Amino acid sequence: MLIYDVIIVGAGPIGLATAISLRKLGIENLLVIDQARVFRQVGQVVDLLPNGLKALKYLDFQAYEDVKKTGLEFLNQAQFSGEKTEITQEQKPSKASSEWVSRNLQGQTTRAVSLKYDDWFKDYGEGRVPITWYDLQTTLRNQLPQNQVKANHRCINIVDEPETGCVRIDCLSNIEAEANPYAYWADGQKDNDTQPQNSDTAPQEKSLRAKLVVAADGINSTVRRVLYANSQYHTFAKPEYSGFAAIICEEITEIPNKLQTELEEKFFQGSRILTISNDEISNSTYKSNQRMMLFRRQNVGYMLHLALPLNSLQGKAGNALVDLALQELEKASFPDVLQQLVQKSPPANILQRPYYIHRATVSDSVQIPGVIPPAWSQGRIVLVGDAAHGMPPFMAQGANQGFEDALLIARLIANIAQKNNWDDMQAIAKAFEKYESLRRPLMAYVQQATLTRFPSSSDKNQLDYNQQVYCSNVEQAMEALL
Ligand SMILES: Cc1cc2nc3c(=O)[nH]c(=O)nc-3n(C[C@H](O)[C@H](O)[C@H](O)COP(=O)(O)OP(=O)(O)OC[C@H]3O[C@@H](n4cnc5c(N)ncnc54)[C@H](O)[C@@H]3O)c2cc1C
Repeated sequence: MLIYDVIIVGAGPIGLATAISLRKLGIENLLVIDQARVFRQVGQVVDLLPNGLKALKYLDFQAYEDVKKTGLEFLNQAQFSGEKTEITQEQKPSKASSEWVSRNLQGQTTRAVSLKYDDWFKDYGEGRVPITWYDLQTTLRNQLPQNQVKANHRCINIVDEPETGCVRIDCLSNIEAEANPYAYWADGQKDNDTQPQNSDTAPQEKSLRAKLVVAADGINSTVRRVLYANSQYHTFAKPEYSGFAAIICEEITEIPNKLQTELEEKFFQGSRILTISNDEISNSTYKSNQRMMLFRRQNVGYMLHLALPLNSLQGKAGNALVDLALQELEKASFPDVLQQLVQKSPPANILQRPYYIHRATVSDSVQIPGVIPPAWSQGRIVLVGDAAHGMPPFMAQGANQGFEDALLIARLIANIAQKNNWDDMQAIAKAFEKYESLRRPLMAYVQQATLTRFPSSSDKNQLDYNQQVYCSNVEQAMEALL
């Protein structure tokens, strides 16, 4: 019976980064499995920020260099203007394109954040690069031997087997992807992976075994579900609705000239991307939860981030979503010109995306009131990345925080290996507790910032946040492990 030292479930950025780090630290008997039948072009652009890049650099310099290079090429090619979408070559960058601008409802600038790598490097000792999720996955995958990353292996169950001193992972291959109600990917492809790898191959079930399992299978984690489902923590098995959702219209093809001019003069003002909310110009105490990200490619499009009950979204598409968006904009006193724009949304181009969360701290939500969340590990299994603490992407920290997880957990597992503690359940529990005690408080802070957006409520809060999050000290965290 082949027993791996470590199996990582999920070949997303965090699973792969963990594998790269483990190999670098001398653990070669490992395997990464993913449910995708084939690795394909899916997902959005993610911004890698100083803390995530620092963690990546520390865990493997080559991986960091390659990711940075791919990201900077993307930035240059697309003349990236801060939007999470493509920009065509013929669109020349305006001066404003190196900044992400926020404006209030009157069109006044409340904030402008540089998108240049060098500006971030100057302030935080590391830069900022945008990279598509697929490019990030591919670049990290290329750092590993091909036979150590297996697609077409969907984990469906996980069982601790004390008699063999390992964990059994049951996988299915060649099956249709199951519908994912957590709809993480805007293009819907990722979870609707119908392209068979080999149409002659019938569905297959197989089991794999490992001494330790790192669950990096994303916000809709199967491992997490299995761990918590039949316990007092069953309410934490599935992601909780965060209270926020996006309504997105990729492009509006027909905008009357008058409306176009008004939008340009009042809001775009030469920018290609901006966020509009009714925040005051400085030190605002009143903050709105309703935000509109406006972007311009060949045509204008928008993304609304709205605080909404989940049931107000359920089953809504097309015109019903346009109506909901208009209702929310009107309630939040968004000006007529923006409401007129939304009215022009082609029903076929509009979609919704509810955002989910795995809270790192005691929840005050109605769903799970006042219950302390369960540990991120059980026996030989540990959760990392979105499987542990997935959250809405408002602060662009999901992948960045996940890289910090990867760095710490790999170092702790390498320690177990070095001391040959594979069968010492106390040593394993201690290592996983250490990981959690270092990561959970920061995750609670980042999630709070994400849900309340308090950093933008005052300059001081913003500075504190930048200091705590972007300047996290990787060397110090490493020392704390020993
Ligand atoms: C619109 C949007 C914008 C974002 N922007 C940013 C940003 O700017 N910056 C940032 O840091 N983060 C951002 N994020 C968050 C970021 O994408 C995630 O935090 C990050 O991808 C998490 O990585 P992960 O490896 O933990 O999980 P995932 O990226 O979700 O990867 C999980 C992997 O596990 C696989 N898998 C799932 N279930 C199974 C199973 N049962 N068996 C085997 N394999 C399985 C999946 O196929 C996938 O490959 C954004 C997210 C969204 C939705």
